[in-house]
Amino acid sequence: MQSVRIYQCERLPGTTVSIASQNRSRFVAVNKQPDRFANRISRLQEEGAYAILAQAQALEAQGRDIIHLEIGQPDFQTFPNISMAGVRAIASGQTRYTPPPGIPELRAIIAEDAGRRRGITVSPEQVVVGPGAKPFLLLPTMALVGPGDEVIYPDPGFPSYKTVIELSGGKPVPVPLLEENDFSFDLEAFDALINENTRLIILNTPANPTGGVIPTADLAHILAAAERYDAWIMADEIYMRLVYGDDGATSIAALAGGRKRTIIVDGFSKTYAMAGWRLGFGIMPEALAEKVGLLLTHSVGCTATFTQIAGIEALAGPQAQVEAVRDEYQRRRDLIVAGLNAIPGVTCQTPQGAFYVFPNVKRFGLPSAQLADYLLQEAGVALLPGTAFGDYGEGYLRICYSNSRENIQAALERMAEALKTMI
Ligand code: PLP
Repeated sequence: MQSVRIYQCERLPGTTVSIASQNRSRFVAVNKQPDRFANRISRLQEEGAYAILAQAQALEAQGRDIIHLEIGQPDFQTFPNISMAGVRAIASGQTRYTPPPGIPELRAIIAEDAGRRRGITVSPEQVVVGPGAKPFLLLPTMALVGPGDEVIYPDPGFPSYKTVIELSGGKPVPVPLLEENDFSFDLEAFDALINENTRLIILNTPANPTGGVIPTADLAHILAAAERYDAWIMADEIYMRLVYGDDGATSIAALAGGRKRTIIVDGFSKTYAMAGWRLGFGIMPEALAEKVGLLLTHSVGCTATFTQIAGIEALAGPQAQVEAVRDEYQRRRDLIVAGLNAIPGVTCQTPQGAFYVFPNVKRFGLPSAQLADYLLQEAGVALLPGTAFGDYGEGYLRICYSNSRENIQAALERMAEALKTMI
């Protein structure tokens, strides 16, 4: 057998080039460390909801009946007028690139609609459209935060917050959300943590995972501190249209002095049941909007044209369906809160917004992840441990009630039965 000698020489960082002696003209690149990735992604983790969904689906594949209360997306179909606008756009050939920050008509109608709902004036140039709300968590953070900068964010909070801070090289500084405070920021902790290195404060109202709404007085307190330390505010308001009760939720951008340091993050996924269309937007001062537009240009290019056209229809079309869906969520919320409070060992506040409840399960004395796993295996109810949203989520579960009342009732009965023996 002919022996093959391998020559190695350093060519590119992390790679070697091997040359078979009998055919030196044919170079074969061999990666020395195929699993060596840039430091900035070393802490990336899967979102808890997708991990539990995968486990639930594996059980379903074995024939188990699982009730899904883990993934946070509307169970309603996209409203037909919106879907048909998208279909017509595709059929009529509106499938080319658009300007990276969005179709002018969409930016204009978002500026008008989002501004009116918050009681502020927004110009179309302040609006940047992207594929979902998520880009407006990442891209403004990339534009503003660098090494040495601290970013305050809610814990428990949407998992992407910590991730985007780490990706941009900043230092994540969690502020606890406390049950005794209706899951608003713990302002004492906040005051102790904000300092001259704080570059950005991330807020989420109404909140995922708690459903909490930050009271206007707390927003004013946070804004005053942001002004004192000249920090930016990122207000994730994706659940702004899902608020129960008459008062609604205040946008920090509507408070005096708020607009010039606030990035509003919002989108169509929750309000219009358009999660899979990928459509969201950010509203921010023009100079920052230009930079975020550039980041979009060089990352996603633009948002799907027909999706944007469907978005115009969503805002211009009838809004009664949004209200009807919200009323249905409220009935489900009331059902699940009452049902959870009837289970010995569980206590649950009545959240004012979004479609999540965050029951306290500390009485069971188990880590939340273990309890969530037990409920999946024993009761066939898929839900998330509070710790999927940060360390301060320990002792809680997150349940998404975007499911039919029949399924919610069945899940409550199964949970009550499974938890009976645990206390
Ligand atoms: N922000 C929060 C608080 C969310 O819960 C979600 C989705 O679950 C998002 C942002 C992302 O929204 P989108 O799907 O529009 O990117």
